[in-house]
Amino acid sequence: MSVKSILESMEYGPAPEGDGPARDWLAANQECFGHFINGRFSRPGADRFESNNPATGEHLAWLSQGNTRTVNQAIKAARSAQPAWEKLGGAQRARYLYAMARQLQKHARLFAVLETLDNGKPIRETRDIDIPLAIRHFYHHAGWAQVGDAEFDDHQALGVIGQVIPWNFPLLMLAWKIAPALAAGNTVVLKPAEYTSLTALLFAEICQLVKLPAGVVNIVTGDGRTGAGLVEHPDINKVAFTGSTEVGRVIRRATAGSGKKLSLELGGKSPFIVFDDADLDSAVEGLVDAIWFNQGEVCCAGSRLLVQESIADKLLKKLRRRMDKLRVGNPLDKAIDIGAVADPVQLKQITTKVKAGIKEGAEIYQPKLPRGLAARGCFYPPTLLTSVEPAFEVAQQEILGPVLVSMTFRTPAEAVALANNSRYGLAASVWSENINLALDIAPQLQAGVVWINSTNQFDAACGFGGVRESGFGREGGRAGMLEYMKPVAEAGLPDLVASPAPIQPQEALGETIDRTAKFYIGGKQARPDSGYSRSVLDPRGRVISQVGIGNRKDIRNAVEAARKASAWSGNNTHNRAQVMYYLAENLQGRADEFAGRIQQQCGGRKAAAQLEVDTAIDRLFSYAAWADKFDGATHTTPLRTIAMSINEPHGILGIVCPEHQPLLGLISLVAPAIAMGNRVIAVPSEAHPLSATDFYQLLDTSDVPGGVVNLVCGNAAELGQVLAEHNNVDALWYYGDRQSAASIEAASAGNLKVTWTNNGRQIDWFDPSQAEGKTFLQRATQIKTIWAPYGE
Ligand code: ADP
Repeated sequence: MSVKSILESMEYGPAPEGDGPARDWLAANQECFGHFINGRFSRPGADRFESNNPATGEHLAWLSQGNTRTVNQAIKAARSAQPAWEKLGGAQRARYLYAMARQLQKHARLFAVLETLDNGKPIRETRDIDIPLAIRHFYHHAGWAQVGDAEFDDHQALGVIGQVIPWNFPLLMLAWKIAPALAAGNTVVLKPAEYTSLTALLFAEICQLVKLPAGVVNIVTGDGRTGAGLVEHPDINKVAFTGSTEVGRVIRRATAGSGKKLSLELGGKSPFIVFDDADLDSAVEGLVDAIWFNQGEVCCAGSRLLVQESIADKLLKKLRRRMDKLRVGNPLDKAIDIGAVADPVQLKQITTKVKAGIKEGAEIYQPKLPRGLAARGCFYPPTLLTSVEPAFEVAQQEILGPVLVSMTFRTPAEAVALANNSRYGLAASVWSENINLALDIAPQLQAGVVWINSTNQFDAACGFGGVRESGFGREGGRAGMLEYMKPVAEAGLPDLVASPAPIQPQEALGETIDRTAKFYIGGKQARPDSGYSRSVLDPRGRVISQVGIGNRKDIRNAVEAARKASAWSGNNTHNRAQVMYYLAENLQGRADEFAGRIQQQCGGRKAAAQLEVDTAIDRLFSYAAWADKFDGATHTTPLRTIAMSINEPHGILGIVCPEHQPLLGLISLVAPAIAMGNRVIAVPSEAHPLSATDFYQLLDTSDVPGGVVNLVCGNAAELGQVLAEHNNVDALWYYGDRQSAASIEAASAGNLKVTWTNNGRQIDWFDPSQAEGKTFLQRATQIKTIWAPYGE
């Protein structure tokens, strides 16, 4: 291109980044890699697969397919390295993490080029976003290691962590996984995605460079089979996964009942909402970042444009004009906006889904790719689909490509309804110059992250993660650190004492005792749908009462009642505290009666029953106090933006209560849940349900709104299963035997609800270090991070 023609056309000339050092690195390894286990690279295996450059199709390297033996070796190495790594202490671990950050910084360009070659994403992004953010993650978590011994003094490391990551941000996802795990004192086995393993292998060399103790970081390459082998291995303590919802579900089922901690960062179909008072030029640039950054291969991509009807034509016109200017081409060219899709398999998926959308009735706008580009590699043009209905597959399913679907709304309420009309809940963007409107909409969106007048902002200090089928758990910041630790009080808990033999149902009619304790649903006493009840026995086997036997229908009614009580989940923390104080006072007023009931059902000494009631009263007072004090945070990030994390309730929370301590067990679980704004469906102690059925008289007299606490008695395992399978139950706490917990965790995979079980361990409900406090509040909430830019 001559200078004259450049001046005439104002076209960019090519500005390719040199790939010499990356190619030298590949050549130095004979373009052939083994696994990184116990501080050394293994010899490349005979079972191998190819890593190609998706922009050109050319071969980059041979990688080894990890098998059972490899995974065993890696986990063994991690297990034997873990105690010493934890014992080293936070300050010493911090030194290693700082050193890793420094070395990444020193070799940043090599990482950026290698990532671009392997993944196809533009060098502009790897150089300016992926690698700097990965470095920032190591620095930030070096800091957490440094201060962690004091900040998390009641927590300890989990042990060995199995981590599986996707191909869209290979090094960045590695950093998100490895940095917090190591900072907290764990060791890891990480499996990168099969399309993009090269920067993970280069990172292994960084581990060697900083002389990280052998076995602390292990990297095993391979496809989904290797990933499955890793997550199913009995000797890991946690699985951290980022990838598709489909595989997330498989992993949820595979780890059910294993006691492994789990965090899942899954798919999304995030709304990008533009109100009529938005700065439209900024919104268009926002859309470019939302859906054409990284070829749209971003789990939190703003892939659903929801635009207010009155400005839709104007915005779409501007958008099409901008799309025409986007430059698709060689990812190593510094002036390229959109590079190559990561793999031919992914390209095919995008093409198929877009074709299906057109068949459904969508209209497509797609600038032409430069001539010959599609033949060279996996390129797909920026794409806009209009005339899309909310029920279309393209509006519901994740595409993970540069494809935007557009729909319109009229009112803010309709915008919220459309935005939440998704099984996902990862992120959302809200565009309006009216700060009141934006801050009114943000909390109503079911998403883990909300960006106001911005999009795709990330920082190591801020929690990132989703709700609903976008998974659970957070990465980044304090919440992210806690994912890699457990409370010290959890260690060494004894196994749960076996439950008494099941109690036989009897016809309610014809019983000599006429009192049948009812359920409590929507603020009213309710009879069991089944019409059946059973006897409640005292410790000597004498019948003391009848209680209804709950079934699926009763749970369904309770969920419906809880749905209607959504006002409880709002911002009224002061009100919640007042109601709970009142509840505590009312229990205090009837303490003797409640103690008598405990003694009648469970036997034992009067003093023990009184202690149970007194502890329950204390617990209610504690959580009443916490109701307006478990605050979120405002994060200090390197960006010109305020990032606020808010502790949001899950919504509807199912609770299966412990068998013993029928009052204290119930209150220890229900109180933190409602203090944080959840509405609860509790299944009381199966053998001793009368403390709970007495308790609802207190709920009635303490101004607890109907539907906030619902009580359904019956078989714990059976009703737990119904709660686990119910799509409108957002989270489930299960206290019971290990086997039932396993089937409940497996059943929860349906809507990927958050579960918390005792893993078959026995909690001492009288001991506040085990049975009360922040862990319960954290489990009752998930963080939503709201970002709002400031300044020019
Ligand atoms: P995506 O294509 O959305 O990135 P996938 O969920 O297919 O997501 O892949 C993400 C990661 O999960 C990859 O590293 C892949 O090899 C791995 N993986 C695929 N199947 C399984 C499985 N059954 N168990 C564990 N990991 C798996």
